[in-house]
Amino acid sequence: MMKDLQDKILKLKKEKDIGILAHSYQAPEILEIADETGDSFQLSVAASKLPQATVIMCGVRFMADTVKILSPDKKVILSHPQATCPMAEQIAPEQVVAYRAQHPDHKIVAYINTTTQLKAVCDVCVTSSSALQIVSRLDAQNILFIPDRNLGSYIKSQIKDKNIILWDGMCPVHASVSVQDCEEMKKAYPNAKVLMHPELPPEILRYADYIGSTSGIIHYALECGEDCIIGTEKSIVDYLRIQRPDKRFYLLSKQLMCANMRLTTLMDVYQCLTGEGGAEIVLDEALRLRAKHPIDEMIRLGQVPSGK
Ligand code: SF4
Repeated sequence: MMKDLQDKILKLKKEKDIGILAHSYQAPEILEIADETGDSFQLSVAASKLPQATVIMCGVRFMADTVKILSPDKKVILSHPQATCPMAEQIAPEQVVAYRAQHPDHKIVAYINTTTQLKAVCDVCVTSSSALQIVSRLDAQNILFIPDRNLGSYIKSQIKDKNIILWDGMCPVHASVSVQDCEEMKKAYPNAKVLMHPELPPEILRYADYIGSTSGIIHYALECGEDCIIGTEKSIVDYLRIQRPDKRFYLLSKQLMCANMRLTTLMDVYQCLTGEGGAEIVLDEALRLRAKHPIDEMIRLGQVPSGK
């Protein structure tokens, strides 16, 4: 049944010459039919190089928006109209504008997990893997980091010579992991390496053997000799188990499941291809250009950024 639908999707995408992008947090059956997989920034760069004039982004809205920002001439379709990232919407752009008015000497750094409207009022974007490099290279002593206080706190712990102010936002999925989860998993699998995403709170990161982006976690987990406890979305554990059936991968907490990333089904992708589903991304050109500026700055300062 699933295989039949995958075959239909592959046939239709070829006939209609449509590219499919899938974030690493998508289900394995969606990753299998995608032209490109990876984190949100990797996908937006990959999309700009795809020959297809139309692309379907399997993920959440800010990811499809980022594809459109970098590829304005392409038709970009979000796989599920209701798929959003709650963290990306935890601040109104007006709040950032008001902060800037009160703190004219502060640079505003936005995690890539932000709406287009928010990017448009910030100075530079970062990904989880490029954040340390970009913040340390930024020509500013005072920085407001939005929206994720956990990623911001990790950056602050590593870059001690800058004044980094944190916004009180967070990823509700990563923030739901408890110290008890960590204690129980360490006790159950004492020899396993603990790999964590910096969206986890500081009291959880204390248990990590490795802290890195989604791509960094995948790379480390595939290469290291030990079994691994994975502290990020469950889909990464599913992916790793397929890639290395000879190793054991354990999910740090049952809470690590993002309902929004899981909204997209194979049927949604099929209906995007038939024109019955999905949501086309349409951005005002002036807004797109303002939102592109911090992404261009990220590329300039980071050179090879990647990570969710
Ligand atoms: S896992 Fe967290 S940051 Fe990622 S899309 Fe879901 S809510 Fe947003």
